[in-house]
Amino acid sequence: MERESYDQAIAALSKLLSEQSNLQGVAAAKIKQITAELETVGSKGFNPYTRIQTGFNLFKTQKYEKNPDLFGQLAKGQSPKFMVFACSDSRVCPSVILNFEPGEAFMVRNIANMVPPNDKIRYTGVGAAIEYAVFHLKVEHIVVIGHSCCGGIKGLMSIPDDGTTTSDFIEDWVKICSPARSKVKQECKDLKFEEQCKNCEKEAVNVSLGNLLTYPFVRDRVAKKSLTLKGAYYDFVKGSFELWDLDFKFTPTAAA
Ligand SMILES: [Zn+2]
Repeated sequence: MERESYDQAIAALSKLLSEQSNLQGVAAAKIKQITAELETVGSKGFNPYTRIQTGFNLFKTQKYEKNPDLFGQLAKGQSPKFMVFACSDSRVCPSVILNFEPGEAFMVRNIANMVPPNDKIRYTGVGAAIEYAVFHLKVEHIVVIGHSCCGGIKGLMSIPDDGTTTSDFIEDWVKICSPARSKVKQECKDLKFEEQCKNCEKEAVNVSLGNLLTYPFVRDRVAKKSLTLKGAYYDFVKGSFELWDLDFKFTPTAAA
């Protein structure tokens, strides 16, 4: 779509929205049409509307309609065995790389697959997901998956030593794994920056596993052996995947 028609579509949408009294039926269809036109603005003819429709149609005919038992069960509820933390990076989707079917893994994806420590003010979103997975879904395993070439970890490793940040959110978020950064800067100072980042990608997973233990309901179930915590690392350059158990001594609380 040319710039002019893009502007025209925007103007048409604005006009429509300003005449809200009739915003039903026909108007809704027109909004859909205008939205579809706007969506063709994308680069070199790429139409996100078509891409998403095609993707869903494929899923529906190849998976949904061919597995009525599975989707019938899932319509009644979910009981995934896994909770998975993965990076938002578009290359590391756990359902793709681990072949998870719908209903198998409850997921949180964020910048650099980090689990923040228990904090009812700063990190309610992640806390709620962990609480739901552990308390209500009773997942049996929490897996934190780090990955190669992680932009979030590179960002963490690039923060100046005086801690100065320039982003609104990113650096503040990735500082969750500052202990990993400190360890790598200390123990791997002779390595090249890229190698340091690679070490930090793995070390940050261990920090997240430790942070999981700051949630009492996680700690409680780990102590009772009804929940395991696992670290993982997906290297999409080599095409490899490592998996390890929480590898530090865990002392159950007195009450456990
Ligand atoms: Zn990442």
